[in-house]
Amino acid sequence: MYIVSACLAGVCTRYDAKSYEDKNIIKLIDSKLAILVCPEQLGGLSTPRPPAEIVGGDGNDVLEGKAAVINKNGEDVTKSFIKGAEETLRIAVLYKVNKAILKSSSPSCGCGRIYDGSFSGNKIDGDGITSALLKKNGIEVITEEELQQLITENCQLKDKEGI
Ligand code: SF4
Repeated sequence: MYIVSACLAGVCTRYDAKSYEDKNIIKLIDSKLAILVCPEQLGGLSTPRPPAEIVGGDGNDVLEGKAAVINKNGEDVTKSFIKGAEETLRIAVLYKVNKAILKSSSPSCGCGRIYDGSFSGNKIDGDGITSALLKKNGIEVITEEELQQLITENCQLKDKEGI
């Protein structure tokens, strides 16, 4: 069983009330292997909502109180983002899930690379707040892009070995 970002399943949870449907996530759902979460909605934020980015670090820094999440209107929404991460962890623990596939670049779900807080599309190394909290609690997190890469590599390996 996997925790997956709801927007990757085609659910319109994004800040702009759109989604990013991903064919691999849909296959996981078809196989009854996915639990959908949207940390920002779980944190009490509305949809649509102003876009937000982490300023001054990444999700780990936010959890340590060293960085904040600021939306495009200049409002500090850090508490909602932390609450969403905690609720996502609660769901993962309830379902005994130890793997998550989360949306790349998001200040909540991003893993490895996130937007840099300037709302300019630039990215920095780091995790979103939910990814950071899940990882701290022993849950493996990958993005939908890494999942596709793993599937492609696996197919190439099978082709090479004639399986
Ligand atoms: Fe998608 Fe995660 Fe953003 Fe929710 S918080 S819209 S699940 S990327």
